[in-house]
Amino acid sequence: MIPALANHLLQSTIFAAAAGMLTRLLRDNRARTRYWIWLTASMKFLVPFSLFIEIGRTLSWSTAPAIAQPRLAFVMDEIARPFATLDSHAATPATAASAPSIVPALLLAAWICGCAAVLIFWFVRWRRVAATVRAGVCLGRLGAGQAVELVASETQMEPGVFGIRRPVLLLPARLVGHLDGARMDAVLTHELCHIRCRDNLTAALHMLVEAVFWFHPIVWWIGARLVEERERACDEEVVRLGNDPGVYAEGILNVCRICLESPLACVSGVSGADLGKRIEAIMTNRIIRGLNFATKLALATAGLAALMVPVVLGILSGPALRAQAQSATASTPKFEVASIKAGCPGGGGPAPYAAGPKGLPSSAPPPPKALKAGGGGGTATSPGR
Ligand SMILES: [Zn+2]
Repeated sequence: MIPALANHLLQSTIFAAAAGMLTRLLRDNRARTRYWIWLTASMKFLVPFSLFIEIGRTLSWSTAPAIAQPRLAFVMDEIARPFATLDSHAATPATAASAPSIVPALLLAAWICGCAAVLIFWFVRWRRVAATVRAGVCLGRLGAGQAVELVASETQMEPGVFGIRRPVLLLPARLVGHLDGARMDAVLTHELCHIRCRDNLTAALHMLVEAVFWFHPIVWWIGARLVEERERACDEEVVRLGNDPGVYAEGILNVCRICLESPLACVSGVSGADLGKRIEAIMTNRIIRGLNFATKLALATAGLAALMVPVVLGILSGPALRAQAQSATASTPKFEVASIKAGCPGGGGPAPYAAGPKGLPSSAPPPPKALKAGGGGGTATSPGR
């Protein structure tokens, strides 16, 4: 179990590092593209490669004959799962005979405690924001189809989107007197962008990853990158829709000066990420490159390869493992005849009994006289008597 988890964490970490390098290459492209790359790296933690490897082996075992494959398949498998050898060595008879260790139980208890602490912490914050929304006053509806409820509240929290299925835009009442029409419109446009892109849903998915893998620093690092890129993506969208960059930047700064940051990643606000870099990016309003055909093709190929390489690995290693298992079965010694030697308390040495296949005797049992002799004077009676 532990080697399998170690393999999964190693693979997911390498995948996240590759995602990080990819986002560096795409730093001049849209922030939403980088956001999806980071989200893919996050979801990788929920989907182990070993699952795809086993699918490949299942496909291979059901179709291919059990022939020995080149050692390349084993080498590739060991590279993909370097801790697998530890798992197989752990199944040696010497280890199995040793006393069970309490280390796995302690690790499991620590994981449950950490997971519960993270979930409870978030649940308390979620309940607090929900109470604020319930205590607010509905000012009307916004967005496409008037689907988003605008609620004003006496909260100090920044404007934010609460909820996933029926999102509500929470607006602090104190902000109304500090933002004029254009600045308020720009800030509300930013929030509506979060709703359109379902940022609360994707944030909740990553929070699930953080709760499960709370002990792994890279999942928290990915979480910070997700917040950073989603805020930049909404900034780009606000400016693209024709809002003045200077007015929008002033609106964000006013919000940060008056309000507190959203307490949860799945309650999308206006602040967050590196505010200085965001303001700089808004004001420079640099030209953002779209993805050309070659880049889209490269991304699609990379995504397909990430899915198919483990499956191919399983297909390559499946026949070899099957042949190995069959070889091990064939080399196991078989006994068709076993002999049992009964001790004679009265002396005279053991009397051999021989059993043939299926446990049937292959030689005649000792005569009742022999039992009489060892019984110390007792009488043996035959069934006919
Ligand atoms: Zn935002």
